[in-house]
Amino acid sequence: MKKTWMLIMSMLMAVMMVAGCGGGDKKAADNKVAQAPKVLRVGTEPTFAPFEFQKEGSKDFDGFDMDLIRAIGKQLNMKVEIQNMGFDALIPALNAGNIDVAAAGMSITPDRQKAVDMSDPYYVSGLVVVVNKDNAAVKSVNDLNNKGIAVQIGTTGADRAAKVPGAKVKNFNTNAEVFLELKNKGVDAVIIDKPVAEYYLAQGGGKESAKIVGDTMEAESYGLSLKKNSPLTKEINKAMLDLKKNGEYDKIYEKWFGAVKK
Ligand code: GLN
Repeated sequence: MKKTWMLIMSMLMAVMMVAGCGGGDKKAADNKVAQAPKVLRVGTEPTFAPFEFQKEGSKDFDGFDMDLIRAIGKQLNMKVEIQNMGFDALIPALNAGNIDVAAAGMSITPDRQKAVDMSDPYYVSGLVVVVNKDNAAVKSVNDLNNKGIAVQIGTTGADRAAKVPGAKVKNFNTNAEVFLELKNKGVDAVIIDKPVAEYYLAQGGGKESAKIVGDTMEAESYGLSLKKNSPLTKEINKAMLDLKKNGEYDKIYEKWFGAVKK
């Protein structure tokens, strides 16, 4: 009898120990989940050098915006995962909850501010007209009436081109196609962001064939965009401010654009 009791007791103890251990394991697993950095899902359209691009033969995302969003992720203790998508797919992807942030040289406009949250501005830009070097007729946007203009779909450049009287506007998914269309003389001009045009002329393959004409049109500022009322918007603005205060933003700026104008 005594033996049976002892057996039952030891079995009970064994069960309790196993149960106890199980509990401990579960707790450890929970802690691990809490410690693992959350993922910041970033969308971009990488034909917009020097803000976002992929070096030939590489799938890595390079550029000013990419460095900035990675620094923001670090600041927020989040793991940054970048996805490639069409520029016009970014806002729908935010609204559908498929990405958390779009980092894509996206200009802050009243229409976009209605559709999504936009962060504080992080870069001042503007639009320019680019034509082929041998084009003597087009000296500014005013000479583009009834002409062919290539733009990237969904951009402020596309909006500007749509206002040119009689213009035949060709929309493309990527800026690579936009510049190629100009080179192939499928259009007379391109309307695109000034720093991107300058980069194309300096080192993106447009040096021999293209030039910028006229003044910068429409002052624009870039912002990161997030789903409307995202709790992350505030955190991202705070992180960006911290990066400006601690010199990290200036370092990234200098890497891509040279000395910061103060
Ligand atoms: N800044 C422009 C816009 O917001 C172009 C952006 C881009 O082509 N990535 O529409």
